[in-house]
Amino acid sequence: MSITTVTRTPPPPPPPLLRANVIELRDVEKVYPGGVRALADANLAIEQGELVAIVGRSGSGKTTMLHIMGTLDRPSSGTVEVAGNDTAAMSDKRLAALRARHIGFVFQRFFLIDTMSALDNVTQALVYAGVKGYEREEMARAALEEVGLAHRALHAAGKLSGGEQQRVAIARALVTRPSIVFADEPTGNLDSVSGVAIVEILRGLNARGTTVVLITHDERLAAAFPRRIDMLDGRIQGDTKRGAPNGAAF
Ligand code: ADP
Ligand code: MG
Repeated sequence: MSITTVTRTPPPPPPPLLRANVIELRDVEKVYPGGVRALADANLAIEQGELVAIVGRSGSGKTTMLHIMGTLDRPSSGTVEVAGNDTAAMSDKRLAALRARHIGFVFQRFFLIDTMSALDNVTQALVYAGVKGYEREEMARAALEEVGLAHRALHAAGKLSGGEQQRVAIARALVTRPSIVFADEPTGNLDSVSGVAIVEILRGLNARGTTVVLITHDERLAAAFPRRIDMLDGRIQGDTKRGAPNGAAF
């Protein structure tokens, strides 16, 4: 007796007619205490599912803009919308809840707790997101699996290699299933092979629907991204999506 297996590939979903903006900046300016104007005239809209590289020399305002988009910092003036929410009207507590739900961060320095296991570092993000205890471990294990580190789950984070630590940090960022992941020079402390692996993981995450915004010094990497934003002296100098200076989107 022969068994015939019929496999049918489901048709791809139709492209959405209108893609929602996950991030919108309008006329955003940031002046730090002491008077440094780190960001000026920033106008930018990022749609769900985009893969964006931000480039520019040191001190050009990249991290400042990323922190403002991610609501880690507030602008001095202008409007910041995240997933349709006007952040100016929100208390710090509500912003923290918005971040826990919608946003993941990956930094150049990994910011793991060295003495805690990889698994516990990832689980931590779910505590802030309000996920129930019994679900946390399963989700954290799945996230570690996704970055290829299931076999290191119980190792102390501090004992892992730099590349592995950054993968744990990515698992921590993605475990809450955020709409958007911000990565600030995530390969800056890594050797080139580990760096490539990190970028591949971020690209994979994007291919599955997550919006990814990455700051990088790597010109070749930025050139391979579908959208590139260039910064200089606190201003958006170029944006390949808009083709217009200052990302004039409105
Ligand atoms: P980049 O990430 O492109 O290197 P940053 O956004 O970190 O640039 O910095 C932009 C400018 O703002 C720099 O001149 C920097 O020194 C200044 N700056 C950054 N953070 C602060 C801060 N917390 N207080 C004062 N000045 C800051
Ligand atoms: Mg920076």
